[in-house]
Amino acid sequence: MVLDRVGDTSLLLDSQDVPPVLEDNAAGRSPFLLTCDHYGRSIPRILGDLGLPAAELTRHIAWDPGIAGVAEALSKHLDAHLIAQRYSRLVIDCNRPPDALSSIPRISEATLIPGNEGLAREAAELRRRAVFDPYHRRIGEVIDRRLRDTVPTVLVSLHSFAPVYAGIARPWHIGTLYHRDTRLPPLVLKLLRAEPDLVVGDNEPYAVSDETDYTIPVHGEARGLMNTGIEIRQDLIADRDGQSQWAERLARIFLETETMLRAQQLL
Ligand SMILES: [Zn+2]
Repeated sequence: MVLDRVGDTSLLLDSQDVPPVLEDNAAGRSPFLLTCDHYGRSIPRILGDLGLPAAELTRHIAWDPGIAGVAEALSKHLDAHLIAQRYSRLVIDCNRPPDALSSIPRISEATLIPGNEGLAREAAELRRRAVFDPYHRRIGEVIDRRLRDTVPTVLVSLHSFAPVYAGIARPWHIGTLYHRDTRLPPLVLKLLRAEPDLVVGDNEPYAVSDETDYTIPVHGEARGLMNTGIEIRQDLIADRDGQSQWAERLARIFLETETMLRAQQLL
């Protein structure tokens, strides 16, 4: 009988599985707190390959390709704390409310996920406890500490998007994603639009909502923090060169943003 052990995360993650939470630069002095919900594509060993061929587990349905390298380099350039999550969004999506159908998707884009079909409630709960909860608990703790210590905190949630989705090509190089924050996104948009070579999405290719997102509504909006999501098109950050160029560009833009926020006494 395993039901009495569902709170035991060792049932999903054993000593050979990596911890879900990865942190860089935890003592960083930047006001920007970076999160990366779709950083990794690890799968707990006990779940095998979720019934998918290897090619499916390396493409965008499994994670946000390229964003890990951007996030790590940006964290260094800005001296910013990065909190990232190593497990595939196909195990559990850390940017979906756990009660959303897309939390543990049975289908992603056009791919059926056999390992998620007919999942018992207890098995879904186990994934939440082992992966989703530790990640979001850590973000919450870090924000608690920063607020207690009156450290200025601006939440930036980093993502990448597929250049073509469901057969439709996307023209944007980068997009800002937001909902209730009216302070930060206009500044970031203004600076991005001043870059002569960029097609910039304003809440494109996605907008933030309480139904389809978790990190920004819960850790940004509900805590009263300025916040934005950043989405970078995956073909631009497919290799190390692209990742470091985009990290340098974003570091420059966020440092300018910080200067503007301080001038407006928002920090
Ligand atoms: Zn993402």
